[in-house]
Amino acid sequence: MIFNEIESILACWYYMADRNGRTNEETDLIKKELMAAYDIWEVVNWDGFIAKWNELRQSDDFDTELIKNCKQSLFTADESSKIVALVGMWEIAVKSIEENDKSWSSAESEFYLDFETYLGINRNVVKEELQNGEKVILTAVIEKYKNLYSDKKYSEFVDFYEKRVLLSKKVIDIDLHINYMWALFQIKAKEQKAFEFGRNLYFENPTSRRLNSLMGAICRWIGETTKNLDTLEDAIKYFKNVDNKEEILRCKELIKLVKENIKAEEKNLKQREKEQETQRKEEEKRKEKEAELSKHKLKSSRGEIYCMFCGMFKSRTHVFDYCSGRINDHNYVFMKDKNDQWELLCNKCGYSRSYASESCS
Ligand SMILES: [Zn+2]
Ligand SMILES: [Zn+2]
Repeated sequence: MIFNEIESILACWYYMADRNGRTNEETDLIKKELMAAYDIWEVVNWDGFIAKWNELRQSDDFDTELIKNCKQSLFTADESSKIVALVGMWEIAVKSIEENDKSWSSAESEFYLDFETYLGINRNVVKEELQNGEKVILTAVIEKYKNLYSDKKYSEFVDFYEKRVLLSKKVIDIDLHINYMWALFQIKAKEQKAFEFGRNLYFENPTSRRLNSLMGAICRWIGETTKNLDTLEDAIKYFKNVDNKEEILRCKELIKLVKENIKAEEKNLKQREKEQETQRKEEEKRKEKEAELSKHKLKSSRGEIYCMFCGMFKSRTHVFDYCSGRINDHNYVFMKDKNDQWELLCNKCGYSRSYASESCS
């Protein structure tokens, strides 16, 4: 066998283009549009294909050899490869006819119908693919990206999946979807996305063991990280589906820990509130005391009203609202000085009120 599966697809397209004499336009269609759309560049060695094509071209019975070869390779191929081969042949045939003439040449239709019948693909499937633009993903392409997955190149794998697989309704391999979930779970800050994707997948595949196990692991991780008891209960639900006793036990332990943690935090919070209340009360007392200390204690003597602590005269002061002398403990009274003049002096230390800001003792 000369051509492998992917090369056979290319050979079918090339051969179709040859039916009316291949033009640059058709070569462009093959290389720039079809090969790009189906990610064939990713999985084929182009030079190898051309070398094989040219070699076969030398054969005396080129047409028979080529058709036989392609049929053999594609017969055992995945359905997606068969569809891609037919879709490409169809597009090339349509491209080669005049703008207003939609009929195929007899050589083109003969070649196409022969393959369609041989491969057993329903024409509606081909037409659907031609119209809806949801490109089939070749098994060979998926295999290549499975390697990215097994090589733990998760970001690249996620990128491939989101660009191609997510848009295609034709991928039914649940392992690929679960691989995507796992890859998301391995990427920091995408764990929640993995969980949401998995939850949707679960509705359609509630019995998949791998899905249940992974959902359990994701829920356990999220539940433990966010201390969310509901999510941990969910984890148990998934692990119960696969009867994973060890994990169920582990989740139950975590629930216990989280509950203890929550209790301890509540206790801490109460303690903090209590401390704050005590502080607030102390502060209040301090302010009251301060307010008390800043009050003058008035005395009236010899026609004057003054404060016994700071010695300020009420009548001689504009601002008479704050006493700074109470803490210094003087006791000012009118006394006669050595010149027999009445003066306000402290009866304890003997100093005049200009010493009011200093301590009496
Ligand atoms: Zn005072
Ligand atoms: Zn004094």
